[in-house]
Amino acid sequence: MQHVAGGTHAWVPPRGGWGHSNTGLIVGEGASLLVDTLFDRPRTEAMLGQMAPHHEGAPITVAVNTHGNGDHWFGNGVLHADVEIVASAASVLDMEAVGPATVASLPGIPGPIGAFTASCFGDFAIAELVEDPPRLPGTTFTGSRELSVGGVEVLLLDLGPAHTRGDTVVVCPRDGVVLAGDLVFAEGTPIMWEGPVERWIEACTRLRALGADHGITQVVPGHGPVLPLARVGEMADYLSFVAEEAGERHARGLTVEEAARDIDLGPFAHLPESERLAANVLAIYRQLEGGPAPTGPEMFGCMAQWARATAGAEEGE
Ligand SMILES: [Zn+2]
Repeated sequence: MQHVAGGTHAWVPPRGGWGHSNTGLIVGEGASLLVDTLFDRPRTEAMLGQMAPHHEGAPITVAVNTHGNGDHWFGNGVLHADVEIVASAASVLDMEAVGPATVASLPGIPGPIGAFTASCFGDFAIAELVEDPPRLPGTTFTGSRELSVGGVEVLLLDLGPAHTRGDTVVVCPRDGVVLAGDLVFAEGTPIMWEGPVERWIEACTRLRALGADHGITQVVPGHGPVLPLARVGEMADYLSFVAEEAGERHARGLTVEEAARDIDLGPFAHLPESERLAANVLAIYRQLEGGPAPTGPEMFGCMAQWARATAGAEEGE
């Protein structure tokens, strides 16, 4: 648990890789707001236990799921039945499309996809959620919504589709903090499940504008450490870089696999989960060709292949 500012706290695990997401807590008078749950029930229970001393006398009455990836809502079943769960309507579509049964089935896919997803998600207790699925948000909105929790005014903005179909950020002007979900991966590689990429870049611009518009100075990302708001620009830099590099190779007729292996990540090479480059190239190719966003198995297949090819190339050196 980390104190961010005023009554805003962040729960940030030691590493922010696959499935290891952050959560947030905004404490008001007699009531608190939770931002996201974790990927499984045991982790969510432990996280809420660590949060408890920080909101004594102000129980969590509202929870916001920033988007529909499992690592931000599969723990919803742990929340008390009285807690109102809020998400954008677009995020609920993602939750309905990809629930625990789909995620739990990925490691069973024969070949590289199964092996790769087992390495990403094998540590999480997803199987038990297939029989006992997490609660879906009961309150939805589109665009924006204002909330008052324990006297604290917060603003929910759905800046998606970008990372996923709906990407809500939680703005807390009282504390100068925005909880940005996976629109911001701090010190890690972003992955674009939905796009278009231009809209994600625009979302970064809108996030930065929260400084002037609402006095926001800090951002709690979906993964990785809390950052000054200005560093949101680094996300946009990565996305612009990949869009340009992929677009240029698409124009030259390279396949997705060829393009992903050909791109030199340069200033972004140090970021963990670098295999996400391959998935991002696939998503950008689909966008350029006017097709639908790739499926999860297509994205994981691409990354598994890229990771194997890269490891093979290093061994051969
Ligand atoms: Zn996430």
